[in-house]
Amino acid sequence: MEAFEYRDGQLFCENLPVERLAAEYGTPLWVYSRAKLVHEYRALRDAFAELDPVICYSVKSNSNLGLLRVLNEEGSSFDVVSGGELYRVQQAGADTSRVVFAGVGKTDDEIRFGLESKILMFNVESEPELDAISAVARSLGVSAPVALRLNPDIDAKTHAKTTTGKKGNKFGMDIERHNALAAKVLADPHLELRGIHMHLGSPILTTDPYEAAAQKALDVVTELRRAGHKTNWVNLGGGFGLSYRGEEAPPAAEYAKVILPWIRKAECRLALEPGRSICGNAGILVGRVIYTKREGGKRFIIQDAAMNDLVRPAMYGSFHRIWPVQPRVPAPRDYESEIPGCEPADVVGPICESGDCFAQGRWLPEVARGDLLSTFSAGAYGTAMSSNYNSRPRGAEVLVDGDRATLIRRRETYDDLIGPERV
Ligand SMILES: *Cc1c(COP(=O)(O)O)cnc(C)c1O
Repeated sequence: MEAFEYRDGQLFCENLPVERLAAEYGTPLWVYSRAKLVHEYRALRDAFAELDPVICYSVKSNSNLGLLRVLNEEGSSFDVVSGGELYRVQQAGADTSRVVFAGVGKTDDEIRFGLESKILMFNVESEPELDAISAVARSLGVSAPVALRLNPDIDAKTHAKTTTGKKGNKFGMDIERHNALAAKVLADPHLELRGIHMHLGSPILTTDPYEAAAQKALDVVTELRRAGHKTNWVNLGGGFGLSYRGEEAPPAAEYAKVILPWIRKAECRLALEPGRSICGNAGILVGRVIYTKREGGKRFIIQDAAMNDLVRPAMYGSFHRIWPVQPRVPAPRDYESEIPGCEPADVVGPICESGDCFAQGRWLPEVARGDLLSTFSAGAYGTAMSSNYNSRPRGAEVLVDGDRATLIRRRETYDDLIGPERV
């Protein structure tokens, strides 16, 4: 399902021309498709349906309340990594008893907030964290549900900054420590071992790492039960691939095919933590061309969307498709080769950093001052990682449903920039 399509020479989100949205809400502008978000959530849910999975949408990928509300209505649960995200999930009206809480640095306050919200489980990353959770649970007179995050030492072949399940990452623990901590949980009346957690990194474009992880989960759960635990959850994290370039990500059914048999054998409930695969291609970032210039033998397109809006290209060297909203040349299938009628250009923003560049030497048609550019696959880790660097107010976010657009975050003002400051 494609949420963003060129029709009659211009880009549409569902049934609305993107140009009209940009005229109404200004640029930079984030445009999301409700249908695409729901479609991707359902695709994953349906692929794993026989195990009735709890799909904990990774709030860190896009935490806008408008999106959280849609997913909550669909029956999604949530994966949070901070007290702030737990607060957002509550504000979206979600049932926190199905929420999982991850992260290597949970504070006592965050642990208390999680316990008071009666979350499904904490994904525990270290022994001192386990001790802290036990202490907070004791002070509240409750037993804390936990899953230990196993670092399975599986190379998911992702970017160095986004691989998390390999020995030497800051995440999780090795199997020896996992087993030692499991024994500690058994002896502690304020802790209960609900499950095992793994998250391998992202985006993972092959299914083998998941199969290896699911197989390992079966071994570990079998061992835990032998030791007297009532463990009945396997949480395999997120990281499912997203097609940033074309159609490189496997469909949900292929991940399900390699995971399901092992979880069935383990007789466990399955939790997943997808983020980007659900919201990534449900969103675009629209910028307006401010200037074009030629310098040093190169062509530059300077737009009003920048690295403070979308930091992925600067931070990870990520590839995003970019094309005009009302192009003089039809959008290609392959954005990475020479395109007839086009010329290479660097697409840059106004920020005073050379790294403020969405694409280098990218084949693009002629554009003029005032034209609109769409940066695709911007729904995940776009706004969530945005900042006010260079004192740039963030753009508005709109959610499109058929031929209706709803403003789900207004454009920031200059007063928003200085609001919290005290002089
Ligand atoms: C980031 C993260 C996810 C989500 O990753 P995606 O690539 O967005 O699917 C899930 N679980 C954990 C523990 C994470 O850190």
